[in-house]
Amino acid sequence: MSRRILVTSALPYANGAIHLGHLVEYIQTDIWVRFQRMQRHDVHYVGADDTHGTPVMLRADAEGITPEQLIERVWKEHDRDFKSFSVGFDNFHSTNKPENEALCAEIYGKLRDAGLIATRSVEQFYDPVKAMFLPDRYIKGECPKCGAKDQYGDSCEVCGATYAPTELKNPYSTVSGAKPERRQSEHYFFKLSDPRCEAFLREFTQKSGALQPEAANKMKEWLGEPGDSKLSDWDISRDAPYFGFAIPGTEGKKFFYVWLDAPVGYFGSFTHHVRSKGLDEKLLQDFLRPGGDTELVHFIGKDILYFHALFWPAMLQHAGFRTPTKIFAHGFLTVNGEKMSKSRGTFITAESYIQQGLNPEWLRYYYAAKLNSTMEDIDLNLEDFVARVNSDLVGKYVNIASRIAPFIAKHFDNRMPGVRMGSFSGIPVPADAAGLAVATAQSDTIREHFEQREFSKATRAIMEVADAINKEIDGFKPWLLAKEIATDPQAKVKLGQICANAIAGFQLLTIYLKPILPRLAEAAEQFLNSGPLTWKNATLPIDVEKFLPTGHEFGQFQPLMTRVDPKQIEALVAANKESLKPAAPAAKPAAAKTSEKTVETATEQPAHISIDDFSKIDLRVARIANAEHVEGADKLLKLTLDVGALGTKQVFAGIKSAYDPAALVGRLTVMVANLAPRKMKFGMSEGMVLAASGEAPGLWLLSPDAGAQPGMRIK
Ligand SMILES: [Zn+2]
Repeated sequence: MSRRILVTSALPYANGAIHLGHLVEYIQTDIWVRFQRMQRHDVHYVGADDTHGTPVMLRADAEGITPEQLIERVWKEHDRDFKSFSVGFDNFHSTNKPENEALCAEIYGKLRDAGLIATRSVEQFYDPVKAMFLPDRYIKGECPKCGAKDQYGDSCEVCGATYAPTELKNPYSTVSGAKPERRQSEHYFFKLSDPRCEAFLREFTQKSGALQPEAANKMKEWLGEPGDSKLSDWDISRDAPYFGFAIPGTEGKKFFYVWLDAPVGYFGSFTHHVRSKGLDEKLLQDFLRPGGDTELVHFIGKDILYFHALFWPAMLQHAGFRTPTKIFAHGFLTVNGEKMSKSRGTFITAESYIQQGLNPEWLRYYYAAKLNSTMEDIDLNLEDFVARVNSDLVGKYVNIASRIAPFIAKHFDNRMPGVRMGSFSGIPVPADAAGLAVATAQSDTIREHFEQREFSKATRAIMEVADAINKEIDGFKPWLLAKEIATDPQAKVKLGQICANAIAGFQLLTIYLKPILPRLAEAAEQFLNSGPLTWKNATLPIDVEKFLPTGHEFGQFQPLMTRVDPKQIEALVAANKESLKPAAPAAKPAAAKTSEKTVETATEQPAHISIDDFSKIDLRVARIANAEHVEGADKLLKLTLDVGALGTKQVFAGIKSAYDPAALVGRLTVMVANLAPRKMKFGMSEGMVLAASGEAPGLWLLSPDAGAQPGMRIK
């Protein structure tokens, strides 16, 4: 019976590039989706960029663009990367869309009506210069234990101490440098501790079969003993300014926390998929509301299990939506046994992999060969990657077609010779000549491995089939038979038999590999002249005469795949290698998405920029026309700059500790003229002046040599 399945992958955050860690999940999901489609099930696969929250807002601000511009650009990059790796979303959307906003409002409204929303006051860090509340991770200061500088608010990277953000000495906002204040604000909570949520979640996490066993156990720990629930209410609001959806009824003062609207984005994307393609509106009822015969399957990284196995289903359950059928969590990616690292060149982006000319299907195959149904981490060992792809794909699978195609073209008019499994026109079958028999016998096993997401077992079984077929070819020695044809009529019969068996086996292998290697399979289908292959051709009992009848004409054989050259891997690693700043924080695990949205690029800058990047910065000579103290500012001076043809600009510069304003008036300096204007507490700042500083106290403003004129461009 045909199943109806809505499949999702976790939403990538819209402030950074897709990298090989993300791709573990997208490739895993895509393989499963393609497999289900080959079973002729009705599958919808949707995703979206996760666009909201403080990091996107601050990143856009730092780049001098709007958040909408930033997420539009990143969406295009993500969409391009997914297409490069054949990740075949039916719809790749964005959470910043009207469908999503409407769904969030509906869910929130229903939860509120059900008495599951509460408000209470929360104390949080507030940046007085940026005039906004900041997540703890944007606060740094001195370790309360050892005094090390520039430590985050939860633990010290120098002495390892852990503490609360409030314990930091001399805390400062990493956004503005200002001393943060603690301020109270009213927040909205989803009452996860409500007995209704607790009862539902015990049932959902333990009895519904939605979770892998190890995930269900983890949930048991998180839920605690019945009657002694460890669930606490979930803070779902953030104060303005915030890039996201305003909470209805708060006059734009409160916004939904990004983690509330992100998973709703699955449904938003599906809604857009249905409406934009003019599909039957009934699909929305069937797939998103309770009571239907459809399945909802989420693929996620193990780090976001908490959100998907607790918050998300509890929200859905109490807002009139269906709950997930399955939540498949996977582990993180390591490269050569370690966390991905920019200094080692193993933090590899999807874009860079493609730019270096590597075949995306190599990676798809390697990940498949490593993936299983557990939450274990998987390792991309680069040496093993080269060896595995070359030996399995090129040396075993492609090799069958490369060996056999020339004989078929030359001796059989490029047509299918007849197959007689097990009885070769009276010629005894050699004991080791059972390739096609193995290929057919493995069909159900391989299918079951795919269904269970045991892709490594599937690839192992597939390669056993390829081994058996190659062994059969070796047993027949077709290269000798071809030479004997002129003198021995039996030789042509035998040659025909082995060619037919091997090609039929190759076609079965192509079916088995197709979910993993869609492009390679397409090239093979052209050679086989088979049309698009589905699993139907591999369903027992297999009748080769039906799908490759005697006399079937093949297409022209083209080399199907090249070997990986180890030099390509060296070049890939070199291209991704960056000199690591000594104080840079440890790389984060390569999850599809981490539970806290991080500003990855703010802390890990690339070592090289192109000349084009450099020329984007408009550096100008400026004359300080006026300089004055700013009332209430400890560090700032207000400068009025004469920039020649560009006019006058007002800039707030953090140089009060080093300069007396009177001494600055009249002197020349260097300014960044095209920095996006920034509204600061004391007024607009329309650029930045350049100054040098080091570890020791002190600050030195830059000046050009005598003769330079205000407004001159610095290149
Ligand atoms: Zn310390």
